[in-house]
Amino acid sequence: MILKNKSFKENYLIEKLFLKNDLDDDELIWLIDNISEEAKKYLFSLSRKTADSVYSNRVYLRALIEFTNYCKRECMYCGINHYNKNVKRYRISKEEILLTCSKASDLGFKTFVLQGGEDPYFKDEIMVDIISSIKKSNPNCAITISVGERSFESYKLMKMAGADRYLLRHETMNKDLYKLLHKFSNLESRIECLKNLKKLKFQTGAGFMVGLLNYKTCDYVRDLRFLKTLKPEMVGVGPFISHKDTFLRNFKNGDISTTLLMLSLIRLLLPKVLLPATTAVSTIDPNGRKRALDVGCNVIMPNVTPCIQRKEYNLYDNKKITGAESAFEIEKIKKELESYGYICDMSRGDSKMTI
Ligand code: SAH
Repeated sequence: MILKNKSFKENYLIEKLFLKNDLDDDELIWLIDNISEEAKKYLFSLSRKTADSVYSNRVYLRALIEFTNYCKRECMYCGINHYNKNVKRYRISKEEILLTCSKASDLGFKTFVLQGGEDPYFKDEIMVDIISSIKKSNPNCAITISVGERSFESYKLMKMAGADRYLLRHETMNKDLYKLLHKFSNLESRIECLKNLKKLKFQTGAGFMVGLLNYKTCDYVRDLRFLKTLKPEMVGVGPFISHKDTFLRNFKNGDISTTLLMLSLIRLLLPKVLLPATTAVSTIDPNGRKRALDVGCNVIMPNVTPCIQRKEYNLYDNKKITGAESAFEIEKIKKELESYGYICDMSRGDSKMTI
């Protein structure tokens, strides 16, 4: 009898979430804590169905360029944090970034994602120069920037230069944990940055890591509620993976099962969101990409960083370093996606939230 009631309650909540795209916080907590494997299958089928209804079975491809691994920040989980002396630091020149974009464009990419550490070398005028030069040679492409926290003015200059999107994960909405992981920063300023990005009409990406130390259901629900309230156009979520040169080296990685559950809930809370199947998911599970797509992800970001630098952008151990710098590799990705029942879409793939 108890079992029957439980399955009634989980199905009721899953259907409510599917129909209303929201649940109360205590309902989310109950669902995360109690969901059975059987009900998870149902939840996943509905989150995939939601992605299908907005984006059909298309998967957008973005060319990811990790253009600097210099970083002034102290993020305790991240392998390229300022204090890690074992990193071979690199920065890619403007010319090389432009060349990389031009090669990616020849392969069909229409979105370039420039991601890096918080590198003081890339001050506003340099970023503006790079962004406007990429836009000039590729007027129809979208540019995504992901270089951490900067001033409103700095974001504004990048927007005016032609940047369309900005990724800045909030990392965790647990204020104390945020402080523990970032000794010299605070959650408020991260949130302020996200609000500024929204104000400036960037297609904005927030997100968090799954399985950070001592993470509890209420922490996940706080992250989910924050996302639901902020309404970002993109959400990046992946498991925390330990890095041997960080203080978190001995902490265990986030698991695939919680990661898939979070991705599925995010798709249902924000039906139109652009949701990448991240490299971190593929790193902890060889089948991770397919599994993430099957619960409602609709973006992948193949790495086009020149090979010599690619291996130095190690945010965590065993990071998958597969890329897409040749037509052959794009073909391979297309085939892989088709074999899962998806269509590879290389158009700009703007968020449907802003259209
Ligand atoms: N400097 C930029 C880009 C950071 S790298 C910024 O601050 O936004 C992109 C993301 O990788 C981070 O936001 C973080 O969520 C994730 N990341 C970093 N270290 C990680 C780790 N050890 N395991 C999993 N994800 C990690």
